[in-house]
Amino acid sequence: MSATDRYDIIIAGAGLAGASFGLAAAQGGLKVVMVDPQPFDAQLAPSFDGRSTAIAFATFRMLDAIGVGAAMRSHACRMDRILVTDGRRPGAATPAPSPAFLRFDADEIADGVGGEPLGYMVENRRIRTALAEAVARAGLEVRAPAAVAAVETDPGQATVILGDGTRLRGALVVGAEGRGSRVRASAGIEALGWGYGQSGVVATVRLEHDHGNVAHEYFLPSGPFAILPLTDQRASLVWTETTRRAEALKAASDEAFHAHLMRRFGEFLGAVTVEGPRFVYPLSLSLAERLTAHRTALIGDAAHGVHPVAGQGLNLGLKDAAALAEVLIQAARNGEDIGSETVLDRYARWRRFDNVTLAAGFDAFVRLFSNDLAPVRLARDLGMAAVNRIAPLRRAFMHEAGGATGDLPKLLKGEAV
Ligand SMILES: Cc1cc2nc3c(=O)[nH]c(=O)nc-3n(C[C@H](O)[C@H](O)[C@H](O)COP(=O)(O)OP(=O)(O)OC[C@H]3O[C@@H](n4cnc5c(N)ncnc54)[C@H](O)[C@@H]3O)c2cc1C
Repeated sequence: MSATDRYDIIIAGAGLAGASFGLAAAQGGLKVVMVDPQPFDAQLAPSFDGRSTAIAFATFRMLDAIGVGAAMRSHACRMDRILVTDGRRPGAATPAPSPAFLRFDADEIADGVGGEPLGYMVENRRIRTALAEAVARAGLEVRAPAAVAAVETDPGQATVILGDGTRLRGALVVGAEGRGSRVRASAGIEALGWGYGQSGVVATVRLEHDHGNVAHEYFLPSGPFAILPLTDQRASLVWTETTRRAEALKAASDEAFHAHLMRRFGEFLGAVTVEGPRFVYPLSLSLAERLTAHRTALIGDAAHGVHPVAGQGLNLGLKDAAALAEVLIQAARNGEDIGSETVLDRYARWRRFDNVTLAAGFDAFVRLFSNDLAPVRLARDLGMAAVNRIAPLRRAFMHEAGGATGDLPKLLKGEAV
């Protein structure tokens, strides 16, 4: 396509949210181009992203609907049970009696009866590979390496200016470039938020004993410590510490890291071997004050970067992608201008409430649990005990985590738009 041709949508960022949105929009007949400083091959390198993602069962339906699920399925580990423990000391992950715990079981929710788990754990590199293959199969245009430097909008179109001066024109620009979104800044949308002074140390480990598809989350004063089941008797660890300690853990020798890890992990899953590099992710909250502006829409972390405590950041981002694709595809079919304020308002109204309430909820959760004051501990332990005893409350939490609540976009019901 020549620089003077016009796209329907220019997507800044071909990460997990941007590429999923691109596939969904193109499936509905919209002409898209994606721009990213990282080519797909670079995103697939073992050193690029060591995380694994808890994908809610509704989100997995969307990945199936956009043609990405099949390639991921054999790498997706079922999460049939989640055990949440309020532990106070390192080593709390040992089987010693815990002061409080919460237990979520897939069998207890209606969707579980049909055999669906609470969610699936998948390594991000597997999701990225499946997305890259689907993007190539669909023949989507990707400009990479290339970065969005600025965006200009006039009443009729949006113009995206790349780092090398190339100008791309379209009816709409979608900001999917993560927390530091250029599109968001160019549109004059403020982001509010704060750092937690915490970082997540992420590593993949091989276990001597079977994890039984159980995810464990221990709330320790320094932040949550999660052991998340992966295929092939492995687990992904998200070990939250103060940023200073997290950096020290990353820099530690293999032997020292392993010794620290075993003190925290305990021995309930037998011997634990670390596989591959360790990664450190600083944790913060960032929430865009609006989801749309003139010929502009934001999705994923560009709209809301949340703490990984509930494993919901990408799930929220993919819900944005599904909702925006549905609004735009239907508008195009009705002959409407997809970049118009009326159309973009539909998307903003659909997603705003969910994003803000969940981001605020996760923030409150982190503060409540990263705290060792006796009265706070007592209050939260009583709360956990209550939720554990009240089955309908527990089921409500599970439905929320499964992503199947509220006004669901068609793709999250597994339907094409
Ligand atoms: C430790 C940890 C564990 C997590 N676990 C979970 C989990 O279990 N479940 C879950 O749902 N979520 C989880 N998350 C959150 C999840 O990883 C993020 O929400 C998700 O990666 C956001 O995807 P994104 O595509 O919106 O943004 P990003 O992943 O930040 O991608 C942005 C893309 O934009 C590109 N880009 C940057 N600048 C530009 C530019 N100027 N022009 C064009 N492109 C640009 C980047 O190269 C990148 O490809 C976790 C996060 C962390 C830190």
